[in-house]
Amino acid sequence: MKVLRVALDVPVAKLFDYLIDDASPAASGDRVVVPFGARQRVGVVVEISDASSVAVSRLKSVVRVLDDAPRLSASWLEQIRFLSSYYQRPFGETVAGALPARLRSLKPLPKRRKSAAGGTSDAAPHFAAVHDPNPAQAGAIERIGAALGSFRPYLLHGITGSGKTEVYLRLIAQVLSKGMQALVLVPEIGLTPQLEARFRQAFPDTRIAVLHSALEESARTHAWLDAARGEAPVILGTRLAVLTPLPRLGIVVVDEEHDASFKQQEGLRYSGRDAAVLRAKLAGCPVVLGTATPSLETWFNCRAGRYELISLPERAVPGARLPTVRTVDLRIESAEHGLAKPVLDAIRTRLARGEQSLVFINRRGYAPVLSCESCGWAAGCTRCSARLVLHATDRKLRCHHCGALEPVPRECPSCGNVDLRPLGRGTQRIEETLAALHPEARILRIDRDSTRKRDELARTLEGVGRGEGDILVGTQLLAKGHDFPNLSLVCVLNADSALLSTDYRSAERLFATLAQVGGRSGRREQPGEVLVQTRYPGHPMFQALIRHDYAGFAESQLAERESAGFPPYVHEAALRAEATRLEAAMAFLRAAARLLDVPDSVQIYDPVPHVITRRAGVERAQLILQSASRPALQDFLRLWSAALPASTSSGVRWHLDVDPIEFD
Ligand code: ADP
Ligand code: ZN
Ligand code: ZN
Repeated sequence: MKVLRVALDVPVAKLFDYLIDDASPAASGDRVVVPFGARQRVGVVVEISDASSVAVSRLKSVVRVLDDAPRLSASWLEQIRFLSSYYQRPFGETVAGALPARLRSLKPLPKRRKSAAGGTSDAAPHFAAVHDPNPAQAGAIERIGAALGSFRPYLLHGITGSGKTEVYLRLIAQVLSKGMQALVLVPEIGLTPQLEARFRQAFPDTRIAVLHSALEESARTHAWLDAARGEAPVILGTRLAVLTPLPRLGIVVVDEEHDASFKQQEGLRYSGRDAAVLRAKLAGCPVVLGTATPSLETWFNCRAGRYELISLPERAVPGARLPTVRTVDLRIESAEHGLAKPVLDAIRTRLARGEQSLVFINRRGYAPVLSCESCGWAAGCTRCSARLVLHATDRKLRCHHCGALEPVPRECPSCGNVDLRPLGRGTQRIEETLAALHPEARILRIDRDSTRKRDELARTLEGVGRGEGDILVGTQLLAKGHDFPNLSLVCVLNADSALLSTDYRSAERLFATLAQVGGRSGRREQPGEVLVQTRYPGHPMFQALIRHDYAGFAESQLAERESAGFPPYVHEAALRAEATRLEAAMAFLRAAARLLDVPDSVQIYDPVPHVITRRAGVERAQLILQSASRPALQDFLRLWSAALPASTSSGVRWHLDVDPIEFD
């Protein structure tokens, strides 16, 4: 008899030992049915051994070995092992989370689909080229193409409309012609049906497995199996696609790598982008991180020589230019109903010319920050480069990074103004105002409230691409990579709330959002224009935006992060606690902070309630850990998570978030 060490979907770190006949061909990576308590479960064999720490007489036997799906490879198990350890999540749960539910169930897998178009025929797949690459694109293709067959991370920094997709497609064509697979990760597939269409057009007879969380169970299972069996040469998906087994992986692409949706916010809180780099390393292939506005982490990695930078500095469509960006000074221009006169004039001009306008309402990064209308002062923390958050319930200002607590000042410390107010959310009545001004115009409002269903949204966006709608009013949903040929004006409202946000990432995000949303305009011959309403037109972020100077902006942000001791110069983790009473969550965190001796290299800050403390009836608080040394932080987190009481025992639920990006 031999011993199989099996990963099961239970919230403990250990593996479970089962006996199996010596003659059995079972190997690590096999799915097995095993008895567990009174029931049977499907687990994954991780190791085979001839001994167990449990007495053999007490070990149970494997019920059967499943061979209806490919054996999970050593490299796949290695990826899962790394993610489980790095993000502090039990191995069995991590394995289970990476498999579609059907592969974890006792039900047999669905029948193999009849081979659809293409697949694994021997002929090189057909590639339908759309454009001849311009010199910048050709250079990128050549450099990355030369690295096929070995691990190399690239940042493809291409301005909006520079033709990054064309670069991906040509590299993928090379990979497919070698009989290998390509993994392409995108932020949100439902929002970018155009991208999927371009892939299908470029590879008309190739099977493309599309993977995202909104798929029906059976569609996800089939796509996963196509990928794992090596029958789908192209895998196009959201972050979870990075967990798919791919036997012949030849290239990994992460499009819009800066996008926050690559970070999972529950369960295994992994970064799909970072996991993609790991994946490429394990597979020995290049990884391309593409974006117009790199995350500061990625930019930092380029500067440190860990990633290679390739730039596409021009728009690809001949004659297309980046839009002209201008600020509209709200201290001079009165903005009736939220829209200043230059903005209204610009919209009127576009209507007369039959071109589309987009009115973008920036809702992200909003936190109630106390500010002075007359001088622009905003309450900041003396210990951190962070704004204080106004907690209306107890009329206190609180720093969400270090926990400092201050009373609300009676007057502005800078100019003496007594009328201090939280910065408002701006108007929600933009659509109504515009409709009243332009009854003849077709106004489309596009946000999460107006478009609940994904396919409805996709259809609306496609319509916009065909020229439907004269004025679009919308939020972040409109900032993603859409191609709207007839759009020539983008107006940005409420940008300032993000500038005053407490989150040190908000300037980075605002720059990315504005560069992206601005990049929707002027994608053909007619030049685009971006108007940003603000009370702080001199702010360096806007100045960089006007110059289209990502690099300058990134450098100044990095300098600020370095002097304030924020990522990427330090590594962070958050311990979050949820309870029915806030005091219970806070007490849990205070006790957690004292539980172990903390090494000097790791700093634990005081617990603080979340900005939105109570959510769905649950009170939430967190504390932040920082360290200049990733291994030191990792070592401490490992010991700590093992020592913390189980979530269920105290009425407090907790989790760790490594490299957290959301703090509200
Ligand atoms: P990005 O993803 O970099 O924002 P896209 O890949 O969407 O840019 O390309 C923008 C537009 O440029 C698309 O309409 C695309 O068809 C076009 N395009 C790409 N490469 C070329 C090229 N070499 N010549 C002409 N047009 C191109
Ligand atoms: Zn502080
Ligand atoms: Zn003031």
